[in-house]
Amino acid sequence: MENKVLTVCPYCGSGCQLYLLVENGQVVGAEPADGRTNEGNLCLKGHYGWDFLNDPQLLTSRLRKPMIRKEGVLQEVSWEEAIGFTAEKLNAIKEKYGPDAIMGTGSARGPGNEANYVMQKFMRAVIGTNNIDHCARVCHGPSVAGLTYSLGDGAMSNSIPEIENTDLLLIFGYNAAVTHPIVARRIVKAKQKGAVLIVADPRKTESARIADTWLPLKGGTNMALVNAFGHVLIEEELYDKDYVSNFVQGFDEYKANVEKYTPEYAERITGVRAADIRKVMRQYAKSDKAMILYGMGVCQFAQAVDVVKGLASLALLTGHFGRENVGIGPVRGQNNVQGSCDMGALPNVYPGYQSVEDAKIRKKFEKAWGTSLPDKTGYRLTEVPHLILKENKIKAYYIFGEDPVQSDPNAAELREALDQLELVIVQDIFMNKTALHADVILPATSWGEHDGVYSSADRGFQRIRKAIDPPGDVKPDWQIISEVSTAMGYPMAYKNSEEIWDEMRKLCPSFAGASYSKMEALGGVQWPCPSEDHPGTPYLYQGNRFTTPSGKGQLFACEWRAPLEQPDAEYPLTLSTVREVGHYSVRTMTGNCRALSQLSDEPGNIQISLEDAAEHGIADGQLVQVYSRRGHIMARAQVSGRIKKGATYMTYHFWIGACNELTVDYLDPVSKTPEFKYCAVRIEAI
Ligand code: SF4
Repeated sequence: MENKVLTVCPYCGSGCQLYLLVENGQVVGAEPADGRTNEGNLCLKGHYGWDFLNDPQLLTSRLRKPMIRKEGVLQEVSWEEAIGFTAEKLNAIKEKYGPDAIMGTGSARGPGNEANYVMQKFMRAVIGTNNIDHCARVCHGPSVAGLTYSLGDGAMSNSIPEIENTDLLLIFGYNAAVTHPIVARRIVKAKQKGAVLIVADPRKTESARIADTWLPLKGGTNMALVNAFGHVLIEEELYDKDYVSNFVQGFDEYKANVEKYTPEYAERITGVRAADIRKVMRQYAKSDKAMILYGMGVCQFAQAVDVVKGLASLALLTGHFGRENVGIGPVRGQNNVQGSCDMGALPNVYPGYQSVEDAKIRKKFEKAWGTSLPDKTGYRLTEVPHLILKENKIKAYYIFGEDPVQSDPNAAELREALDQLELVIVQDIFMNKTALHADVILPATSWGEHDGVYSSADRGFQRIRKAIDPPGDVKPDWQIISEVSTAMGYPMAYKNSEEIWDEMRKLCPSFAGASYSKMEALGGVQWPCPSEDHPGTPYLYQGNRFTTPSGKGQLFACEWRAPLEQPDAEYPLTLSTVREVGHYSVRTMTGNCRALSQLSDEPGNIQISLEDAAEHGIADGQLVQVYSRRGHIMARAQVSGRIKKGATYMTYHFWIGACNELTVDYLDPVSKTPEFKYCAVRIEAI
């Protein structure tokens, strides 16, 4: 082997370390490394997912040259022309409509933390707006908001390796076997070591199959079940009175709210047996070490922030914080969605979760960046279609490492919105569906072709490294953004990713001690890491000091609300979006891997229950049309005994069978996260 390069897998927030095997300037394989979270193991995406670097063009082409749309057609141009065109157009739009007419995204995928830092700095210091957001908005946005309100930090309280050493796992709306196989491995090990496993999920997922108790709740009833859990803890005096009185506030309001959520009342809403609700809360409260893990089955509802607060409340009531093997874990999906949040690719915070509305903090960034900065929170990603079509407020959109036409809800409306803009900039590695609407395309280096840092789901900074030279005439993301910035009159002249990282560290107290050299020496550093001599923080809230303004954990009273679009005679089934194990996000990477692309292919499947299949005369494997109030698509029926009658499930990976033609764009009022997990559909056999 010519070369082995240590890096981090780009396919989920587990943050598994691996070696890329390089021969003759090409990646030819991958081997597991002994990383903190994976300890020498990889899932099949870690083993085989590197192949897109060789650009087999199975699904779509690698972008190799900048392009500008001329007379309706995207044409290859020089970098000089592409950067000049982009800068001139952005300056003109800023001049004519003001900075807030421009929206930008960060990227939770390959680019890394440094590129996200540079992008948010560009939007704030150069454009002059806080209109920067990214795909956390459509996944764990409710975790950032809900956990910040409840505990102070919007991240996993504990670490991935701790999962296997707890006494009880409460897994809520989270299918680890598909989304984070290496986390699923920890769940299996916990079970083997004797932990009690409780799974709340409408589907009989892999975790549900090995659970001690499976709570098959109806879709859209999370809050009712979580409130019933709280009811049992208080009614049966299972909560830790000393802990609550010393470290928690909001108890009286919380108690009054959950009073009516008796297990019997909750059973009528959720379908979960009252006896099981009581049983699992007795087990949870009496366990010395208990941990909650949750995923998109919590976050992708219009009541997601409330449910996140509700889950945090259960851990606060029982004192499951401030130690090893306890706490609450929002397990981040995309590989660097934690990192793009850490770097401030959000409309309300600078890097390090520092508020843009805090004058003292703003002054610190103004001094460092040498310019005045906007003082109000920017637009959220999911508000963009409405802001373009209904309010005429956005004129240009700089889409960096995202493919919202494939990944965001109500795709037809988004396409219509993009086509009304004066400027759409797409910066990516593949010609994706959003790029078809671009006025300018800026081709970037991929994971494996640049250096930097990713953040794992458990707050772990880890180095990613360049293994090969990129194909064609492409540049690192941070360099492209810097060149646009310079052309707009704000020079940025970073020499490498470490220089960017060090600038960021100086501005972020929680990350200040996480240097490249410390990551090299320790393999990674978990934040908070406030100083050079600090080793990092495996679990938060030591001494039960929460990072809320009061220093106490906050209980919240939240009533259950039913999802907004209910089934009816015309659309009698519900649709929820999910993932499948062999593919990742919008599938441009895994769809261009020879091994992974063979696991499943177009059109995407729709999972349907045995009862509904029989009722609609649909056989397993049959092609069907799926209709919602927003569109219709073709899919292949996957008839399954693990699905409840009345519910269907689709992945968002596929172009044919693109389920976001069907999904609804109702948003959580706080996080603005869409209700991907619930809309009404009809299925017809073709
Ligand atoms: Fe990669 Fe996630 Fe699999 Fe680990 S669990 S190898 S990070 S996809």
